[in-house]
This record gives sequence, C-alpha cells and structure tokens, in this order.
Amino acid sequence: MKLPALLFIATAITAAYPLCAEEQVLNLYSARHYQTDEALYSNFTQQTGIKINRIEGKEDELLERIRNEGANSPADIFLTVDAARLAKAHELGLFTPVVSKTLESRIPAHLRTDDWFSFSTRARVIIYNKRTVKAEDVQNYADLADPKLKGKYCSRSGSHPYNLSLMASIIANEGEARAEQIARGMVDNFARPPKGGDTDQIKSVAVGECGVAISNTYYVARLLRSTKPEEQKLMQTVGIVWPNQNGSGAHINVSGGGVLKFAPHKDAALKFLDYLASDQAQRYFADGNNEWPAVDSVKVANPALDALGKFKADKMPVKNLAMYQTKAQIIFDRVGYK
Ligand code: FE
Repeated sequence: MKLPALLFIATAITAAYPLCAEEQVLNLYSARHYQTDEALYSNFTQQTGIKINRIEGKEDELLERIRNEGANSPADIFLTVDAARLAKAHELGLFTPVVSKTLESRIPAHLRTDDWFSFSTRARVIIYNKRTVKAEDVQNYADLADPKLKGKYCSRSGSHPYNLSLMASIIANEGEARAEQIARGMVDNFARPPKGGDTDQIKSVAVGECGVAISNTYYVARLLRSTKPEEQKLMQTVGIVWPNQNGSGAHINVSGGGVLKFAPHKDAALKFLDYLASDQAQRYFADGNNEWPAVDSVKVANPALDALGKFKADKMPVKNLAMYQTKAQIIFDRVGYK
C-alpha cells in the first residue's frame, strides 16, 4: 500500500474516534460478515464500553493490508478463517503472544497457539451422489484416490487453504509418501479440472456431474437450511459421510484470530479475545456461519448440523496443520493438483 493511502486510513480512524480519555475503541480487521455479528459486537460494547470499529474484507486481502500497514497499522485484532491463514499471519510476525487464563481454560489446547486462538470449528466431509456412488466406497479421504472412483472426483483448487490444510493433516497422520500417493490418486480420479468453491462441488455432485467431492460442513448446513425448493431438492440426491471414523477422525479446521503486534489498543484487544470465549459470544460466533463453538461446554441448537449426526473429530493441534502447509503445496504441485 502506498503512503498516502496509509495516512488516509490512519486519519480516517482518528477522525471517527477522536482521542478522548473516556472513549475506548477497538479496531477489528475481520473476514467475518454474518447476520449474528451485529449482536456479537454490540454485546461486547455493552459489557465493556469499548466501541468496535470494524473493517471487513476478504481473508487474504486483510492479511496483506495488515502487512503493508506495518507499524502504522491501526488494527488491534485480526479475525479470519482457516488455520493456514492464521498460521501465515503468525509466520509473518503479525501477531503478538497472548497470555490469558480465560483462553487457556476455555479453548481446548489443540485449538490454540501462543498467539492465535480458534473460536469455532468446521469439518471437511465427503459428499457423494447416492445414485452413482456407494457410501461404503467413500468412508475415508484416502478412498477418493481409489481407481474405483475414476472420473468421479470433483474438487476446488488444490492451492485453496481448505485443501492445503486437509492435505497437511493427511501428511501429519499418514506421512509424506502416503499423502503424495493419495493426492496423485485423487488427481487421477478427477471428473474435471478443479474449479469453484465447496458449494459448487456439492451442486455438481447433486446433478451427477461428479460422483464425489469434499466440502466444509457449513456449506452443507447452509444448503440443508435453504428455503429455496431447488436447493432442497438437490440435497435429496447427495449423501454425506463423516470421513476417517475408524482412524484419525474427520479433519477439523477453524476460524479464529489474535492480537496484532502493533495493536494501538492492546488492553481492549485482550478483553475482546476473552469475550469471544464467553458462552454468549461463542454461540453468536459459531452459529453465524453454521459452525461449532470452540469451547466444549457451549452448545448451539443448529438443526442442519444436528442432522449430520455425531462424529469423531481429528484432535490434531492446529499448530500441526500450519506446520505442513508448505509440504502440502509441494505435493499438490508435484502431482498436478492445481
Ligand atoms: Fe468458506
């Protein structure tokens, strides 16, 4: 970002929130934009008197923006989705370590690091066409590499964080050589070159263009909760499998965030992270995108998620997902998973 733009943001934020001893603010850079967010943020302001100045954007753009703003960044908190992006922010040195008794006791150890924390979880599930594929043939991520499924597997891009994180988990669980074998088998089974998002994969499976695909649970839940008759009809033709239930469990990813190194309002930022782990905030945070709360004791009533049934989740530390990102990309490049 060029300097004038930087100055403009700094000025704009100062102008919106003039320096005044009583007024506390928090500048939040967020890749979230859900219906429940208004309540999520206004409750924090009500409880603490701290006003939230929100800047929303696409995940990667916000990350770049914080990076470019550097020491002049007005951002206190960065919220985003996927361990891959959170890990990237960590690697770029954008976060500052946080010590919080609340976060330590509320967020399970595998869902936090020293400087970023998960506040909700989602799983990556297998979607299959009930007419063309048998459920017993697609019980594991590795099954998608079986020659039996030749010409039936659809996927979004291999360089997308969701697929990189899944491949990272396969590397961590099964080793690099086996992970590469699986990735290669998946490429051999492509029904078409990777394209679109998770929702596109589900729809392609539903109409029979593909036999099987992978999707994050919230996209499945969104379609299951859809009020559009055509989407309800589509969902009748797809089956959903919780993968790896006799092994490592379904791959889990997260959304979360951390306090930024140059945060001008560190105290407010720490309060905000603690707040996100509270019962009330957890409900808003998770339900806004049909996800599960990171705090175990908090339950949400989400009929679409409940309809997917209980499952065994992979409890791999989010740190490990981060650790194998680069290897995952190398493997995808090597096997042509574009
Ligand atoms: Fe998504």
